[in-house]
Amino acid sequence: MSFTDRKLKCRDCPDEFTFTAGEQEFYSSKGLEHDPVRCPNCRQQKKTSSGMESTDIPRYGVYASYGGRTPRQLFVAECGQCKKLTEVPFRPRDDRPVLCSDCYGEQRKRDEVLAAAEEEAAAARIAAAGRTKTELESGDLDRE
Ligand SMILES: [Zn+2]
Ligand SMILES: [Zn+2]
Repeated sequence: MSFTDRKLKCRDCPDEFTFTAGEQEFYSSKGLEHDPVRCPNCRQQKKTSSGMESTDIPRYGVYASYGGRTPRQLFVAECGQCKKLTEVPFRPRDDRPVLCSDCYGEQRKRDEVLAAAEEEAAAARIAAAGRTKTELESGDLDRE
């Protein structure tokens, strides 16, 4: 199955927008049969007006480059964390959760904290194991 870029008409404004092959593939991989009804600008506006902060406007990808230039080949994917649509330079796979740049940054921070905590826990376990062994050897546990 192959996809080609298609021009669609926006429902909210007179603009035409490109439904890229990558997006079409993404939609069909998600089992979505409907084409997007709004252009990226209107989609963004709708998001913004529905409580999203304006700082959430993507500064990358099709949205940012929208305005006549041909978008780079990017794949649209839903962030596995915040469910925001994001764009990734690789083909999203079901076994590999996609994260938007925000969540990716947070994830990395969390991973670092987690790794540090795990190291600490491991050290504590080793210390605890050492103590238990010593207690066993000294017969502490047999004394009641
Ligand atoms: Zn529009
Ligand atoms: Zn996200």
